[in-house]
Amino acid sequence: MSARRVLGTLWGRARWWSGRAMRLLRERRPRGAAVLCYHRVGAGDDEYLDGRVPATPPGRLEEHLRLLRSAGLRPMAVGDLLAAAGRGDDTRDCVGLSFDDGFRPWMTGVLPLLKKEGVRATFYLVEGSVGADRLLWHHRLYRRLQQDGEELLASLRDAVRNRPWAREGDPLAALKFRAPAAERAEVLERILPPDPSEAEAARALYLSGDDVRTLAREGMEIGCHGRSHASLPTLDGETLRAEVVESQARLRDLAGTPVSTFSYPFGGPEHRTEAAESLVRATYASACVTDFARWTPDRTPHRIPRLGMADTPAWELAWLLAHPRIS
Ligand SMILES: [Zn+2]
Repeated sequence: MSARRVLGTLWGRARWWSGRAMRLLRERRPRGAAVLCYHRVGAGDDEYLDGRVPATPPGRLEEHLRLLRSAGLRPMAVGDLLAAAGRGDDTRDCVGLSFDDGFRPWMTGVLPLLKKEGVRATFYLVEGSVGADRLLWHHRLYRRLQQDGEELLASLRDAVRNRPWAREGDPLAALKFRAPAAERAEVLERILPPDPSEAEAARALYLSGDDVRTLAREGMEIGCHGRSHASLPTLDGETLRAEVVESQARLRDLAGTPVSTFSYPFGGPEHRTEAAESLVRATYASACVTDFARWTPDRTPHRIPRLGMADTPAWELAWLLAHPRIS
């Protein structure tokens, strides 16, 4: 078979599948609502995050919004979804839209699109990154890994030798997810030499205070994603309070709006403890996690599952939204 025919057949199949996914989405409305979780959207001088932070080109986000509209679905902020559920509305047509971390390229790659479509979304910001002239600890690590990964991993192995939390498995995962926060900071100071270009990188990557005010003024919901993006089980009581409670107060002052929703850093069940969850419940009306499922109004609003989006084709999103097994 010629290459042209093979391509023609593949194209035909893709069209068939995408047509089928769209038909399914129009005909089938599984119970509850999907909440989509995006991270980096829009261009920026931050290629070092690629592969470690999911990236969505603005054109892809536009396709997603077009798909939702043509299927008769209503994209909305997490708070609006909960309000709809609270009124007893049918949430099967609702799709929550959320963006995690606080990336500056959202201002050009996301906000104009949402304004054009008249859509509100929830922006979960890492409070300590807003207007910062230092990269968040994990972004410093990723940047340095990109520059000289082998050398850095060798000094990391050396620095964590004999530490109880690094006895098993990958030392990088141990440092990110299991090291007590103070020890993690100490190891990072040791293995990451000062970088004079970091301030410029941080200003290009993160939202400024003015950006946060602009998002809020444009009607977007501001949520909190912690102070430093630490995995909450690695924190002592005082630091946990700073990450969950004090961060909320600063974001509220910056945005000039209430901040009543939280998104767990890293999001999975291993990044929550009973102590962390009870503090989150006492501080926020809702919280998002990253379990890949739909949210139904009979479930707690403090563990709203989300479907992670990257450069996800529209047909795949249609498929996910129509799929009853994701419920
Ligand atoms: Zn995050």
